[in-house]
Amino acid sequence: MAVEVVADSATTGPLDDARAQLAFAIEHLGYGEGIHTLLATPRRELTVSVPLRRDDGGTEVFIGHRVQHNFSRGPAKGGLRYSAFVDLDEVRALAMWMTWKCALVDVPYGGAKGGITIDPTRYSDAELERVTRRYTSEIMPLIGPTQDIPAPDVGTDERTMAWIMDTYSVNVGHTVPGVVTGKPLALGGSLGRASATSRGVSHVALLALEHRGRAASRSTAAVQGFGKVGRDTARFLAEAGVRVRAVSDVTGAVFREDGLDIRALMRHVDTTGHVAGFSGGEAIDGEELLELDVDVLVPAALEGVLTEANADRVRAGIVVEGANGPTTKAADAVLRERDVLVVPDILANAGGVVVSYFEWVQANQAYWWTEAEVDDKLRRRMTSSWRAVLEYADRAHLSLREAATCMGVERVWEAHRLRGLYP
Ligand code: NAD
Repeated sequence: MAVEVVADSATTGPLDDARAQLAFAIEHLGYGEGIHTLLATPRRELTVSVPLRRDDGGTEVFIGHRVQHNFSRGPAKGGLRYSAFVDLDEVRALAMWMTWKCALVDVPYGGAKGGITIDPTRYSDAELERVTRRYTSEIMPLIGPTQDIPAPDVGTDERTMAWIMDTYSVNVGHTVPGVVTGKPLALGGSLGRASATSRGVSHVALLALEHRGRAASRSTAAVQGFGKVGRDTARFLAEAGVRVRAVSDVTGAVFREDGLDIRALMRHVDTTGHVAGFSGGEAIDGEELLELDVDVLVPAALEGVLTEANADRVRAGIVVEGANGPTTKAADAVLRERDVLVVPDILANAGGVVVSYFEWVQANQAYWWTEAEVDDKLRRRMTSSWRAVLEYADRAHLSLREAATCMGVERVWEAHRLRGLYP
């Protein structure tokens, strides 16, 4: 089977972008079409219906997916997304990126992703619990601590992970903390996991600033998204001395030339539930945030926000991808042409999966590390990955994304080659 790869700028979604990135790596590495097809094709996909008994007695049915893209290097690993926009192709793209990400930061996992097409804001906690438990029981044959380990993503959190862990454990008859990561601490979660993705994003952003000869204390940033990733990224950048000029969420964006008081903004969001209405800055349009005069732009919300239509108006010299797939293939080309340094998602936001790995190791051993140990190990892993990608990119005259993808693909293929093809 030949893999259909979109070769020009007419990309239509994250799966096209993910496939185009893989196609580039395959060509650069000199691999043949057979290897390309093997690495482009998810190993397993399961689509399930998830019936929900509503609180009012009615019934609704949602569609859920779990895609295991590859497990040559270990069990599949990847988040679970609850969003009205989830579809199978998006889940496939996110699963493929997880494969390269895990290989790039050298955690012994393959890549997976899951999702349910549901807007979680429209359902009660009790309904979300029933949806989660039913979805878990539907995908039970695929998941497990040595098979596939879900974690939080957009629209899910540690509470979701607790429900999955409990449903799985009840069904197998004993408690299995290693079946998910991003759990509450009381159930075997890891210290430092909740902020790990953000810690990694901000750490890599500071390394990128240093690489471009900029001191943090003289730099500015804008962060799109104020959820699990964006919120602490803004906080860590501000704590490092960076003036975070703008932040947004789905309700709006706020701007302050001299830098927002991120702690005050966090309190405002804790009270009101959203960024809009924060009195410590002026309201701006969410789109405008992407084009602000800042040193670092951190898209940390959705995929496909930097496109051919706005990439030439991005004024930041560095884009650090907190979200997965925020830059389309066409935008990537424009940014590169304009010498904007793009730190790709599979490197920039890998802190989450690194500490998920630490959580899994701790849960499997029932032995817990201190937060300082976790943070220190994370920092070292992110720094060495950054340096390795930078060196590879310099040596091979590639962008950081091309270099990171090539490194991930190379490691996955190496594992596959050594294992051999069964039968
Ligand atoms: P989340 O649901 O906690 O937060 C998403 C945030 O984006 C919210 O603040 C939401 O209001 C905001 N948002 C939505 N639409 C927006 C828009 N149009 N403009 C501005 N803001 C908007 O999700 P998250 O876990 O923070 O994930 C965000 C991204 O980071 C996703 O791409 C996810 O795949 C990726 N990611 C998450 C993790 C993790 O550990 N949670 C790890 C790696 C990558």
